[in-house]
Amino acid sequence: AAQAGRALKLGMMPADGIGKEVLPCAARVLQSTPGAPKFDFVTLPAGFEHFQKTGSALPDETVRVLREECDGAMFGSVSSPSHKVEGYSSPIVKLRKELDLYANIRPVVGVRGTRDDEKWVDTVIVRENTECLYIKSETIEEGPQGQVARAIRQITERASKRIGKKAFDVALAREALRSKAGTSATAGRGKVTVCHKSNVLSVTDGLFRTAVRGVYESDKKSAGGPGRYEGIDMDEQLVDSMVYRLFREPHVFDVVVAPNLYGDIISDGAAALVGSLGVVASVNAGDTFFMGEPVHGSAPDIAGQNKANPIASIRSAALLLEYMGYSDPALKIYKAVDDVIREGKYLTPDLQGTATTSECEEAILRALQK
Ligand code: ATP
Ligand code: MG
Repeated sequence: AAQAGRALKLGMMPADGIGKEVLPCAARVLQSTPGAPKFDFVTLPAGFEHFQKTGSALPDETVRVLREECDGAMFGSVSSPSHKVEGYSSPIVKLRKELDLYANIRPVVGVRGTRDDEKWVDTVIVRENTECLYIKSETIEEGPQGQVARAIRQITERASKRIGKKAFDVALAREALRSKAGTSATAGRGKVTVCHKSNVLSVTDGLFRTAVRGVYESDKKSAGGPGRYEGIDMDEQLVDSMVYRLFREPHVFDVVVAPNLYGDIISDGAAALVGSLGVVASVNAGDTFFMGEPVHGSAPDIAGQNKANPIASIRSAALLLEYMGYSDPALKIYKAVDDVIREGKYLTPDLQGTATTSECEEAILRALQK
């Protein structure tokens, strides 16, 4: 967190497509939130369009400014070319690596009063972000019966423990926020569900499961008095039944921790429960640096038309604030967004409304001042 009086410097990377429309909305909301610190925004180049112009999707200077000068960052969205482009690799993947942002934290949250309480969803998916099948170690060879392709899936004890610890810390922070906001937990207490498939992949998923459980169990054992995670429960769920339960009874999940690929799939699935990709936020987290990022992509089909839903970006900005230690102004933003969704008058077309990006943003700015 910043010293008193100094503005927080945030690196802003709108990148491509609707990122360029929705990230400025998030900056204006941050600036107008009562009780928020002062911000000093610095716009930094990144993205596929920048690659097409300059040959670099993520200039070294962008990384340097983020590392040496910024307290946090926001990323918009990047276009993924549909075919392989020589020399291009995703700036997001590189940013996560360069800044060691090993966790992708995605809250999926409904709005009270807009859907049946039975199907109320308020879940955070904590996705491991550095390994699993994403190490992209694939081979293909000619076999006697045709081609054989293989992919290596890497799970390490270190990365699994680290993401496990992050998930338990997220559960703790949620408990703290709930008591502040005066709302009760969906299932009474904070809970971390470990998502895996160790009945089939007993070695790789077995290691993931054991490592995450180990974080919780050694916390219990090592503590003479109450452990750090004393108020948190833990259980586990095979990924297939996890998907089933997520759709049938999403309210049973609080914090879910998953290896990279399962985390990707269940968080997109969970996004479907809240109506649109356009409302789902995330933060990429390391131990000390955080980068907010809407879950959606660059949406080329609606880019440049003032139609994109700015809520995912605005919520991502609030998440960033929350993880940087400013939970009071973050809660104000969450509430203003909820008010606008509940009122239903200024929603963009993805939520069956007729409002423009700007009208939705303005409604949120007004709700913030109430
Ligand atoms: P990319 O390759 O950048 O991921 P994409 O075509 O997969 O592009 P996404 O951004 O992932 O596009 O979006 C998938 C669908 O959801 C698109 O039809 C898009 O218009 C819609 N969508 C995504 N984000 C938003 C948003 N913020 N507001 C409205 N609609 C959105
Ligand atoms: Mg996409």
